[in-house]
This record gives sequence, C-alpha cells and structure tokens, in this order.
Amino acid sequence: MTNSLISIVAISPIQDYLQTLIARFSGLSEGEVADYIPELKLANPDWFGICIATQDGHIYEVGDSQQHFTIQSVSKPLTYGRALEQHGEAAVLKKIGIEPSGDAFNAISLHPTSGTPLNPLINAGAIAACSLIPGDSMQEKSAVILETFSRYAGRALDIDHTVYQSESDTGHRNRAIGWMLRNFSVIECDPTATLEAYFQQCAIRVTCRDLAIMGATLANGGLNPITGKRAIPEKYVANVLSVMATCGMYDASGEWLYDTGMPAKSGVGGGIMAVLPGRLGIAVFSPRLDQQGNSVRGLATCQALADDLELHMFGASQPAIPAIRRATSRKSVKSNLRRTQAANDYLLRVGKKLRVYQLHGALTFASIEPVARTMADESAQTEVFIVNLRLVHRIDRASVNILAELRRDLIGTGKLLFFTESGNFWQPLIDAGVDREAFFADDDFALECGENHLLGDRFPNLAWGSETPLEKCDLLLELNPDELALMDRLLFYRNYLKGQNIITAGQASNELFVLTKGSAMVSMATQDGIARFDAFSSGAAFGEVAFLDRSPRSANVTALSPVTCRILTREAFDQLDTLAPAIKIHLLSNLAGRLTTMLRHNGRELASLK
Ligand code: GLN
Repeated sequence: MTNSLISIVAISPIQDYLQTLIARFSGLSEGEVADYIPELKLANPDWFGICIATQDGHIYEVGDSQQHFTIQSVSKPLTYGRALEQHGEAAVLKKIGIEPSGDAFNAISLHPTSGTPLNPLINAGAIAACSLIPGDSMQEKSAVILETFSRYAGRALDIDHTVYQSESDTGHRNRAIGWMLRNFSVIECDPTATLEAYFQQCAIRVTCRDLAIMGATLANGGLNPITGKRAIPEKYVANVLSVMATCGMYDASGEWLYDTGMPAKSGVGGGIMAVLPGRLGIAVFSPRLDQQGNSVRGLATCQALADDLELHMFGASQPAIPAIRRATSRKSVKSNLRRTQAANDYLLRVGKKLRVYQLHGALTFASIEPVARTMADESAQTEVFIVNLRLVHRIDRASVNILAELRRDLIGTGKLLFFTESGNFWQPLIDAGVDREAFFADDDFALECGENHLLGDRFPNLAWGSETPLEKCDLLLELNPDELALMDRLLFYRNYLKGQNIITAGQASNELFVLTKGSAMVSMATQDGIARFDAFSSGAAFGEVAFLDRSPRSANVTALSPVTCRILTREAFDQLDTLAPAIKIHLLSNLAGRLTTMLRHNGRELASLK
C-alpha cells in the first residue's frame, strides 16, 4: 500500500530512531523459522519490519513493513473480541477461561474441573472462540472473521490459500483439540467447519503496517484511527487487551508484561502486535522464532522500544495532553529589538518562517510525538524554531532524545532550533547532544537571533558597527537631499562607551535620539537578571514617546556596544516650525508611522495570547 505519509515528512526523529533499531537488531540471527506448517518455512528469515501507528492515525514504518505474511496467532484476540460482540461476556466466559495456562500454545489441555479451555489465546481457547463466530460453514465463519479483521486493518485483507491448505493438511493436533472440545460440549456440533475456519483465520495475510494499525485500533477504543470505522464495540476492548496482557506471548507472557508493560500478541508467522492503550499500536515482523514461538528480533525490538520510549503502562504514565499550548509566528511575536522600518516590513512579510512553540505539561513519547510531527510538517516553510519550555514540568528520556534528534535533523537541513526558558531541563538536553548555543534565557533573545538569521545580509546597515547614513534612518525617511543637509547640521553628535547609560530614568525628556552606530537597550532588573524591554540597532530612533508627551524618562537606555547617536533637541525641533515646516511634517509623520507600527504589533501579540 502507500507509504506516502513518510515521504512527505522528510524530517522525523521517530522514523530515524526506528531505523536505528533495524540496524541494531538485524544482526540477531538466533531462532528458527516455524516449519511445523510446511508452507511457513518458505519465509525469508531476514525479513525485518517495524511499524508504529499512533492513536490518531499517524504511521511510522521502516524495513520490511509492507511484506505480507500470515497473521497466525495474532488473530486470536481479535476473534475472541468478535465472539464477545456476538454473545456477550457472560456467555463467552462460560466456554472460555481467562487464566494464563503455563502450557504450550498447542497443548491438548482443558481446565481440570470446568472442562473449558484455560484462555482464548491458546489454541483450545482460540478454536472455541472460532466456534462462537456466527455461521455454520467454514465459508460463513471465515467471511465474518475476514470482514472483522479488515475493519481493524482499514483495508480488505485476504487469505493465503497455500498456507491455509498447508495447515489444514497437517493440522491433526488442532483437530484433536477440536474433537476434545466437542467431547466436553464446549463445541456443540461437528467441529470440522470451526477447525477449517480457524485454519483460514490463521492464514489471513497481513503486513507489519496492518498489525500496527490493528493495534492502534485497540489503543483507540476499537475505532480504526485511519478509516474512522469501528472494528469492535468499545466495551469489549478492555477484555481483549486484558487477555493479551496476561496470555498474549505464550509462556513468556509474565516476563513480557514485566519488561515491556504492554498487552501484546505474537504469531508463528513472525509478527508481534503490541498496544499502548490510548496511545499506540506497535508491530514488529521478523520470522525467526525462539523456543516459545515468539519472534526473536520482535522481542528485542519491543523491549528496546518500551525502554527507550518509556512506554511501560505501569510506569509513571502521564495523561497525553497535547504538548503544544500555543504556536505563534513572527507575524505576531517579535523580539524587543527595534529595527528599521524596512527590516520590520521584511520580517513581517517572511514572518511565517519563524515559529515559536510554547510547550506545556509532561513531555513523554505520546505528547512529544505529535510536536515532532507538527514541526517536521512545518519545516518546509519554517527556518527558525523556538521551543519555549517554561510551562513544562517533566521531560522523560524519550522526549529529550526526540527533541535532540529533531534539532540535529533541522540543523542538518540548514534550519535553527532554539530552546528558551529551559529551567533544569537544559542539562538532560545537553547530555543528549544539544549544544550550548541552542539555549536562551527568554524568547526575546532567541527571537532576535532568529530574526537576524531571516534578515541575513539583506539589510547591511543593521550590522553592528557600521554607520547608517541619515537618509536610511527611520526618522528621516522621505527627506530630499537639501532637507537632509539641513538636518545633518541640526543633529549633533554624541558618542557613548559600551555599558554607558544613554538615558536615565527620571530625567527630563528634551532630546530625541537617532542611533547611527552600535546598539542599545531599554532594560529593567528582574529576579532572573536583566530583562530587555526594547533594543535598538543602527538606524532606529528612540526616546520619542517621552519626547512627544514631555513626561520624564521612564527607564534606562544602555549602550550595548560603542554607540554614536545624532540628537535632535527640543529647541531644534521647535525651530523647524518656521525654518522648515515641510521637514517637521515629515518627521512627525515618520514618528506617527513608528508609533502605529508598535500599536499594531502590540495588538497582534495580545490577540495571539487569547
Ligand atoms: N495456526 C497456528 C496453529 O494453530 C497458529 C499458531 C501460532 O501462531 N502460535 O498452530
């Protein structure tokens, strides 16, 4: 079928991670391909596929995830679910127990007192469940089963008739179990149709991807997350998952649950389907089996997935609230650095290329996976990603690794990713390979850095250190050469050392500043250090608000580098009334432009907070 989903999303730390599992475990060559059903021996022992399907229908798949094989015992819980749907819990419990057996899957054994199969996942119980499927003939039963499984997989499945025939020709032991069930009246008629339907059920062809989607359907309360169609009534999902948890992995079920913490079912075709309720379906396919009949690579892979992604159901599980609280772009948030009108206009135009994600809550595989997916999807249009961690209260190992890997992927394609307000989480991120340059105390500085990246060398006048000619300064835009010459005479020079105060709070406001060289910032001390409220680079005007309304200065402005200012005094400004009213009108209109830009920006930022 399609793997278009993967090819669109070029950047996926999760896909990359699954690929590393293939590399890590494809060396495992212990175990044997099942041969008691002659046709199964034909499988290539080196086939190896892994697939994860999320509860909202996203697929990650690697290796031979589209290779067909027969479902075998992975079918058993699904048929059991269909029997429950048909007859209800009480009637089914009378025929099939729910205790792990400790016997081999094909044991010819029933409960010593009740005479019923111990559970629905050993052959005796599975054959009993098959007898409860509506229909009197093999064809009728088989059609119901195929239809049910197809709803789980979200596509029309079919039967591998050669494997069916091979098992039917050699399935004497299962026939013995069938007749034994008949003897104890668990099956109340000739068991032949049931046995043949059971062989057909085991021979349904699936891929690893199908099994993952089937698992995701169970994780999603019985609703296939891709087709939106129901495969099993919600109230029976817990019954199915419970028997998978206790009996799904044959004799190794206890150890499996202890280690991976997920209900699962394996089959002798080499498939394993595991379910993390509410979150994921996981499938691994590789035909070499261990003594118990479980795929060797499948076990190793699921174990690694459970460890690395911290999936154990009984671990510190957290509700999967989506981790993105708010996502904004440079269209509504900006750094406090005051830039020239031209640079601002440009940044507003390309604003979508810079995105800020405010994450919150506990970051676990389930909550970070959709974030990584969103960011990967947006990476085609985005150059700079800022990830704010202020409202995050826990990050597990899996999400640390995914964030670190995501950053590596993005940087590999020439993008930037910064973390802001990371609190105590910077250390684990650094340990996972994120370099120190990625961290900023707050969004403001990260935004400034991101904006500089977007501006590139388009606005060379902004470079710290170079002098901006007057005609490029915001305040003096639109003046003709004569007017500029006049202003050049009126504006006197003042230089500042790095760190020197240009404006001190409380002073009278009799000067308007045009910064022609260097940079400066408006700041206040807070408990976390200095917070920057505004910053100016070469070409910007500042001090205009108090200058216009004649109020005292409200904050300090400090030189961040050696600074040159051109200063318009109030006397000179007033002289223009008679000397050059046209210039005064230009200045006022430029100032008004500047103020409306600020107002509009504040409006957008406020709106984005709602
Ligand atoms: N069809 C197989 C059987 O009944 C299924 C066994 C399995 O996958 N464990 O023998």
